[in-house]
Amino acid sequence: MRVLIGCCGLDCEQCGAYIATKNDDDALREKTAKEWTEMNNHLIKPEWINCEGCRADGIKFHYCSEMCEIRKCVHNKGFETCGDCPEMVGCETVKMIHEHCDEAIDNLKG
Ligand code: SF4
Ligand code: SF4
Repeated sequence: MRVLIGCCGLDCEQCGAYIATKNDDDALREKTAKEWTEMNNHLIKPEWINCEGCRADGIKFHYCSEMCEIRKCVHNKGFETCGDCPEMVGCETVKMIHEHCDEAIDNLKG
């Protein structure tokens, strides 16, 4: 599986934070911060938009490294991704992603 497929199955390579970081693109940082602020109803500043991917080495967006319950659960269970987990179908933790993104489930199939 590509290292840029995150623990939950989302493709970090398509994420605004990842693209802005790789290209050092401040306009995209601004746009991504605005979208994520609206989506989460919580202020996210453009200077916080730096991430090289959930499972890749390097800098991470603080939510993904410190707060994401899916990533924590995957690490605590010693898995690479939720795709390794026998409890994935019906899992309440990863459901918030998989309900809205069939592609994430497909990505976890490798
Ligand atoms: S880990 Fe980083 S690149 Fe992946 S979804 Fe989260 S913010 Fe985006
Ligand atoms: S319990 Fe859920 S969040 Fe945790 S590894 Fe399994 S599928 Fe992922």
